[in-house]
Amino acid sequence: MIQLGCIADDFTGATDLANNLVRSGMRVVQTIGVPVEPLAADVDAVVVALKSRTVAAADAIAQSLAALTWLQAQGAKQIYFKYCSTFDSTAAGNIGPVTEALMVAMGTAFTIATPAFPDNHRTVFKGYLFAGDGLLNEGGMQNHPLTPMTDPNLVRVLQAQCKGRVGLIDYRTVALGEQAIRSRIAQLRDQGVGIAIVDAISNDDLIRLGPALKDMPLVTAGSGVAIGLPMNFGLAPNVSASQLPVTSGLKAVVSGSCSVATNAQVAAFKRAGYPALGLDPLQMANGANVVEQALAWATPLLPKGPVLVYSTDEPAAVKAVQAQLGVEKAGAMVEHCIAAIAQGLVQLGVRQLVVAGGETSGACVQALGISQMQIGPQIDPGVPWCHAHSPLTGAEGLHLTLKSGNFGRESFFSHAFDALA
Ligand code: ADP
Repeated sequence: MIQLGCIADDFTGATDLANNLVRSGMRVVQTIGVPVEPLAADVDAVVVALKSRTVAAADAIAQSLAALTWLQAQGAKQIYFKYCSTFDSTAAGNIGPVTEALMVAMGTAFTIATPAFPDNHRTVFKGYLFAGDGLLNEGGMQNHPLTPMTDPNLVRVLQAQCKGRVGLIDYRTVALGEQAIRSRIAQLRDQGVGIAIVDAISNDDLIRLGPALKDMPLVTAGSGVAIGLPMNFGLAPNVSASQLPVTSGLKAVVSGSCSVATNAQVAAFKRAGYPALGLDPLQMANGANVVEQALAWATPLLPKGPVLVYSTDEPAAVKAVQAQLGVEKAGAMVEHCIAAIAQGLVQLGVRQLVVAGGETSGACVQALGISQMQIGPQIDPGVPWCHAHSPLTGAEGLHLTLKSGNFGRESFFSHAFDALA
């Protein structure tokens, strides 16, 4: 039976929350979508990763309610709806509509909302969200292609998405601690407020907020509030929270990310003398059996240490490929090819797999038939090792880490294996 059940509105946001919960002492599994099967591991919290941030509100609600039902069946005592620390939403939602639908389904009349994540420079003051040193709508989020955020006042933003009333628990109340926050909540409820934005400008604020959320059935927030919740379940930071099964087996890296950091990581891995094979998307398009060739190349090398197979390239080369094949076709083709190589590598005995690229990770996880991942120790900020079961492995499963574009230090591809050892 789990303690905390989390619903995240996107995949990397789910990992971010899971990582914070683990560092605060919870054992956590992240699932890809709403599982059809029961939970496979004994953990304190589960984060269900949805893709509901920018879909139609009705679809986001349906996905979130399905996640709620599954989490409640696993015994979740509290539900945490997780969104982005920049409160990414469209004029229609989906933060407001999903929150209100969860409240109705859970029969609860009050919840909080705060994207504050001071470690990541997201702070809320008098209801206004700051990203770094400026207001939310001054640092680029006003131009976001899918969720432009033009108003930094979260009470106004959320009110526009909600049927019920939205209020504020401001920094003065938060500074006074649990009892003051509880009194303010009672006052807001008397006034008919259903959701309160909460100010938080430091981790201390989030730690003070935590105890006041103890009996609240539903909490909605970015990943920051997670640092103050595990103590409500009698849990404190501990190394066993991030413990994964002992690892053995061969090591490999596959990379389909063309981000600046990944290009530097590929170059560093090659400079350090590890074997690396570059893939040519134009050869793939011409029908060459790139997957078979890559696996034949890797087979004799794998017993000696980690190998890298990559399509990572500089922007000019990527643009040239896209001009010839089309952006979408090039992307899907390369993702499919790298996922097939990851599958082949696991069939060859790879049990420690690094995947670079957000979309590439999605394709690999799908190809490996992975639906649940236990979250382990952090390698670099935002990137933990995970352990998962796959139909391609025996009962031992495999260790994998999914690194999105610009995350990780330059030596990430070799350093990651040291972190697991
Ligand atoms: P990131 O996390 O860095 O954004 P993603 O995997 O999300 O990485 O996205 C990279 C995209 O670029 C994928 O769709 C991938 O298939 C595609 N891609 C990778 N290598 C190449 C290449 N050499 N030419 C064109 N597209 C590529």
